[in-house]
Amino acid sequence: MDVPVFSRRRVTRRAAQEIRCIDHSVIQAAMEASKHTYPNEFAAGLSASGSTITALTLIPGTRSNFHSASFNYHSILGDFSTVGTIHSHPSGALIPSAPDRRLFASVGRIHVIVGYPFYESDWCAFDRESRRISLSTV
Ligand SMILES: [Zn+2]
Repeated sequence: MDVPVFSRRRVTRRAAQEIRCIDHSVIQAAMEASKHTYPNEFAAGLSASGSTITALTLIPGTRSNFHSASFNYHSILGDFSTVGTIHSHPSGALIPSAPDRRLFASVGRIHVIVGYPFYESDWCAFDRESRRISLSTV
């Protein structure tokens, strides 16, 4: 009898291909939180169910200011429903900074940046290589 071998790489790659949607309420919640923390950044984890990002995961110990938000990666790595991060750019720029690129490459696989003035369309999603990806809102 063959025993299935868990392959983290295979699971991660397959799951990354499956995530194509984000629940509209997640974007709305992130926009409201970003308005509330403005002029400081807001940051949270993203949880998915199936192919859809369905929830924000608040990350304990997150600290933020106008230039950045920081948290301990290990706080979210243990949660297998967490697929990435979302954070705000009070400057409005929807472009990953150098620290963002390092974060995207090291934790999660889908990342969202929301930008001032935090209207409904003021967001972009990125993959681990900081390439823009398309997520449908549902
Ligand atoms: Zn950023």
